[in-house]
Amino acid sequence: MNTVMKSPGTALPRARPLRLDTRSPEFAAAFKQRLQVSAGEQASVAGQVAAIIDDVRRRGDAAVLEYTARWDRTHAASMHELEISRAQMEQALASIDARQRQALQTAADRVQRFHEEQKLAIGRDWSFTDQLGNRLGQKLVPLDRVGIYVPGGKAAYPSSVLMNAIPARVAGVGEIIMAVPTPGGERNALVLAAACLAGVDRVFAIGGAQAVAALAWGTQTVPAVDKITGPGRDYVAEAKRQVFGKVGIDMIAGPSEILVLADGSTPADWVAMDLFSQAEHDELAQSILLCPDAAYLDGVLAAMDRLLPSMPRADIIAASLNGRGVLVLTRDMQEACALSNQVAPEHLEICCAEPGRWEPLLRHAGAIFLGPNSSESLGDYCAGPNHVLPTSGTARFSSSLGVYDFQKRSSLVEVSQKGAQSLGAIAQILAEGEGLQAHAQAARMRMDAPTDEAGVAAPGSVADKLVREFIRQDIQGTHAYAVQVSQGLIKLDAMENPYPLPQALQQELGRRLGALPINRYPGRQVEQLKAALAKFVALPEGQSIMLGNGSDELIALLAMACDRPGASVLAPEPGFVMYGMSTRQQGLRYIGVPLTVDFELDGPAMLDAVRRYRPALIFLAYPNNPTANLWDAAVMRQIIAAAPGLVVLDEAYQPFSSRSWLDEMRANPLANEKVLLMRTLSKFGLAGVRIGYMLGSKALIGQIDKLRPPYNVSVLNAECGLFALEHEAVFAAQALEIRQQRELLLAQLRQLEGLTVFPSEANMILVRVNDAAQTFERLKQRGLLVKNVSNLHPLLANCLRLTVGTPQENDLLIQALGASL
Ligand code: PMP
Repeated sequence: MNTVMKSPGTALPRARPLRLDTRSPEFAAAFKQRLQVSAGEQASVAGQVAAIIDDVRRRGDAAVLEYTARWDRTHAASMHELEISRAQMEQALASIDARQRQALQTAADRVQRFHEEQKLAIGRDWSFTDQLGNRLGQKLVPLDRVGIYVPGGKAAYPSSVLMNAIPARVAGVGEIIMAVPTPGGERNALVLAAACLAGVDRVFAIGGAQAVAALAWGTQTVPAVDKITGPGRDYVAEAKRQVFGKVGIDMIAGPSEILVLADGSTPADWVAMDLFSQAEHDELAQSILLCPDAAYLDGVLAAMDRLLPSMPRADIIAASLNGRGVLVLTRDMQEACALSNQVAPEHLEICCAEPGRWEPLLRHAGAIFLGPNSSESLGDYCAGPNHVLPTSGTARFSSSLGVYDFQKRSSLVEVSQKGAQSLGAIAQILAEGEGLQAHAQAARMRMDAPTDEAGVAAPGSVADKLVREFIRQDIQGTHAYAVQVSQGLIKLDAMENPYPLPQALQQELGRRLGALPINRYPGRQVEQLKAALAKFVALPEGQSIMLGNGSDELIALLAMACDRPGASVLAPEPGFVMYGMSTRQQGLRYIGVPLTVDFELDGPAMLDAVRRYRPALIFLAYPNNPTANLWDAAVMRQIIAAAPGLVVLDEAYQPFSSRSWLDEMRANPLANEKVLLMRTLSKFGLAGVRIGYMLGSKALIGQIDKLRPPYNVSVLNAECGLFALEHEAVFAAQALEIRQQRELLLAQLRQLEGLTVFPSEANMILVRVNDAAQTFERLKQRGLLVKNVSNLHPLLANCLRLTVGTPQENDLLIQALGASL
């Protein structure tokens, strides 16, 4: 049956986990019984541990030395002999096999990265100011000193050192003290090497309840810590339980567990080995397989028979599987998921073809491993997430060890004078109700006007309260995108095409729109528009295109797509305001890098910021709004090359520009793999229609397009877009006319006194005057609406942005400006 020979007379271990079928009437009782694990002889251990803790607390080092000599056969004259120095840790690191050192280092790096991301994601200090001007919030503070317990002897796991010490260090803990027993004086080089890599500050060669007591209460040599984490059996677990309250602890871990959900698509050998890898920990470890396919369960059993004899720990595996293992035939995957929630396992593997389909149903698990490749063993060592996980069903209410376990929060209350009055009145009523007069008086003393207006603050409307409690605080502090009132004025403020469609075309468009099935959601028209746009731009090979409700929506979707913990978005400034607005609305960090005084990209500053902030996304408007210029292509190339993430080239003004980055993308596709090219039909003559589009690699567009609201482009929009592309020549002629008008306008503006004119590649011109607010008002009095951009950025002081209009409008503008300056 197998090739491995055991010594004569020893029966070959066989794995015969319990098999259950959820359809059987006995199932529920049998399954429940299998999940139970006997509490053992807790009482006697508890008594002994209490005595040890008491002794260490009273006698300190002397007691620890005695217990260490007795239990760990390690004899030392003083505790200093039991301290392992930094130099000894470094020696250990140097002494281990190079492959092991490399593996340990890589695992440490990955665990570190995961916990750094976690730290960013779980938040930082926060506060808000309520309507009364009270500032309320919390600040986060790392623990001052923590103790990490690492078991010694056979069960010495360097990975445990990484998993406990690294989150503590990432959290910013002041000092990390490790305790590790060295039975017979034997030090484990791998454990010490891991401590060295993980940045443990001090290591003591002590273990058991005496080590936990020493860490909790402190001795002459071992400093008292604030929290103790790390695994341990019997005495250590009991000691942690008993010192809890004096110090914090992570958890009391039970035997390790794995639960595998299988749909029959993962090789049976893989699943059998994953069940073994839990069972090999110890006889009490539990391995559970849930699957709706009986033949597959047979296959896993057969695989166990085949694989078990070659396992060095076959006896432990067999004992664990036979005592606690269970294979359950379920009615379907839904039932399997429900059962898994009931177990709330420490490790949960979804060995299914579509793990994403089942994951949303799974509510309780320490760690979830999705798909056939995600073996628990990778999570145990090096995937990055913490392997210290809640066991014995405690995943119902607790989580993996993390940065948050090494931080605590202090609430902040800063009451304003107005707040003292309003809150004081409430507190006084409640304190009097409780009969606590000092409370009531303390509140009253701070109330400025204790007579008339001392009533409870006007409660405000329900909607007000909802806003204060449930709407994001940062949004409450911002303004909406401002659209100027333009009634009765000539609109030269928003870079629109000033030419309407020729009458005949306008009527034809009206007929086409009138024939659309507006009772249906958009369908065919949108697909046709995408195809027509792809043809219009001659979409490069391997790229795809997506549509936005204006490019404004695409900007918002990009920010959403890049919203990973700690991600930032970078753009040169002054630039299009929506880059900053959408980024901040998404809750991401926005970094604006100033242009030079003559509105060129500041190459060194951009590159420096790119390196420093590693932005997920860089926006470059080409030509830029509101400065209207095109940037140096060489500097653009450098920025694109240095960008760690996506680069969006926003060509909203491409119809009026002499260059497009699309040519660059075609000529040099490799150098532009990160680039997404964004355009809009707005400036072409369809501002009212709202069609933006973006092209780029299939992989990137495919992801971002998932975030698009399903029917963001209406049938009416799509039909208008199609119409415009069919009559592209008409719009192109208008764009050409606008370019010519721009040149004329530039020349005329340069003739005027008292203003600086900046070059333009768009349908707008930026000018600087002596008093922008005054000139803006004077133009308005003469019936012309332009945009005063002075307050957008310091570089734009006293600048106005003029949209190129029709020849008549431009003449009026020149006259009005001449009179106003
Ligand atoms: N990008 C830039 C640079 C812009 O100036 C504008 C609008 N002024 C947009 C994008 C948004 O255009 P859309 O009308 O397509 O939303």
